[in-house]
Amino acid sequence: MIVVLKPDAEAKAVEAVLEKIKSLGYNTHEIVGVERRVIGAVGKDEQNKEHLKNILETMPGVENVIPIQKPYKLAGREIQSANSEIVVDDVVIGGERIALMAGPCSVESRDQLQTTAKAVKQAGANFLRGGAFKPRTSPYSFQGLEEEGLILLKEAKEETGLPIVTEVMNPREVDLVARYADILQVGARNIQNFSLLKELGAVPKPILLKRGLMTTIKEFLMSAEYILSEGNKNVILCERGIRTFETATRNTLDISAVPVLKKETHLPVIIDPSHGTGHWDLVQPMAMASIAAGADGLMIEVHPDPINAFSDGPQSLKPDKFTHLVETLRPLLKVMGRTL
Ligand code: PEP
Ligand code: MN
Repeated sequence: MIVVLKPDAEAKAVEAVLEKIKSLGYNTHEIVGVERRVIGAVGKDEQNKEHLKNILETMPGVENVIPIQKPYKLAGREIQSANSEIVVDDVVIGGERIALMAGPCSVESRDQLQTTAKAVKQAGANFLRGGAFKPRTSPYSFQGLEEEGLILLKEAKEETGLPIVTEVMNPREVDLVARYADILQVGARNIQNFSLLKELGAVPKPILLKRGLMTTIKEFLMSAEYILSEGNKNVILCERGIRTFETATRNTLDISAVPVLKKETHLPVIIDPSHGTGHWDLVQPMAMASIAAGADGLMIEVHPDPINAFSDGPQSLKPDKFTHLVETLRPLLKVMGRTL
């Protein structure tokens, strides 16, 4: 529910409204980007909504009470029409600047990571990505260096200044990963791991939430809602391809998810054309298409020696190809009114 306050509402009256909302078991949310002072009341008890609405409408200082129609109450544009901007070190995600996250699928060694980190930084990336906990289809495939990988990521940040994006797979490892990461990634396979999502709602760091292989836009936003409703407002959505009948690409990259999500939510939306296509030579055209569609950023896998990569070599760009991609993106960014 959205509670619109009168312009001349007294502080005492506003306090009483907030108290009333809380006493009936709803959480209050400050609404940003509107001229009037507005309070969002979001709660678990749907049945009680009418009751709360009736009470609030009669309280001093309240002008209007509007129910929120969409099920994703906090992620939707009803409660916040302005785009969310998420600040990580000196980068603002969701504004004019594009978030360019690049790095290897898996952290493999100090040398591999340092080489990649320096190359992507040089090319213009503003985040370093790299997996230390890897969600692999086969239990016999490389599972990641775990904490050792996180330590290497931290060292690479010290070396390059690039903030770190890395995946957390398990609620038990949230504290550990949060000690090293600047942004915690939820992988496609964990999109509906609600225990993990709730845990991440209490983490004071941004979450990069990847769309699942079979996730509808509504389900995607409901997963974001799990994190938001636990108090973490900093969620970045990442489209990374969905599973269709098509086998020419690893997944089918749903570029239309960008404008659809932009219409529905104030959260930043980025695209991962590496997992979206599965082939390094398709990454650049899909990266261009993503920016043209209005994405707030890209996540791209880069590896100095893709043939020998421990994971996702076929979709990884060599550093020189990544540099070329960034250079071809620049004029497009200008046309789109974006910067790097
Ligand atoms: C990854 O980013 O390396 C990854 C495993 O991605 P996804 O969860 O999208 O498959
Ligand atoms: Mn990967």
